[in-house]
Amino acid sequence: MRRDLFLRCAGAALGGLVIGPVLSGCGGGDEELADAAMPVDRTAVTADPAVSSAPAVPEGLSAEEIAGLLFMREEEKLAYDVYVALFSRWSHNVFNQIAQSEAQHAETMRQLVLAHGLLDPAAGNPPGVFVNTDLQAMYDALVARGQASLIDALKVGCLIEEKDIQDIHDKIEEVDDEPDVVQAYENLLCGSRNHLRAFNRTLVNQGGVYVPEVITQAEWDAIANSPNETCGG
Ligand code: MN
Ligand code: MN
Repeated sequence: MRRDLFLRCAGAALGGLVIGPVLSGCGGGDEELADAAMPVDRTAVTADPAVSSAPAVPEGLSAEEIAGLLFMREEEKLAYDVYVALFSRWSHNVFNQIAQSEAQHAETMRQLVLAHGLLDPAAGNPPGVFVNTDLQAMYDALVARGQASLIDALKVGCLIEEKDIQDIHDKIEEVDDEPDVVQAYENLLCGSRNHLRAFNRTLVNQGGVYVPEVITQAEWDAIANSPNETCGG
């Protein structure tokens, strides 16, 4: 029941495909209500081909872990899409190089999402389009911010990387006994620290200074002033 519920909630969040009594279980609050409605839910699920054809969620994946995977899948796509857009605007190779790395991160997350039986929220979405409304707003704002000058564009890179680092840290804390997920997140974190260093270095070379908005100045300095790392695959 709980697995079914999570899957249907993920489906509702993704495509708005699930309606009626099923949604009553997606608020995360009322187990009694959800259990009482189970026979009705079964009928609804069987009658809905979009839900019944979805793969099963493996044992052990919590609602928080699922939400984390879906969010990080789209956040890595966001990094890629923004850097491609900013490379198109400024033709500075730092955006091209880091976009290549973000493509790998996004693919890592896509495969992790699929390996855990979830639907890829980014499937079929063109550059700059996101299911998560916060990420959609962030993409729109950051691409706009990066148009004014190369310095502004490099600061957008710095902001994406410090937010990515904070978000992955938060998601890792929500993961319980899923080593493949933790390892993927750790690899993304390692890459993000290198990206932060590259953007910061390029910004300083251009005469700019970045003031962190998400992590602390001490955290920023510790990463920016340490050497590049070799990240695992
Ligand atoms: Mn990344
Ligand atoms: Mn990055």
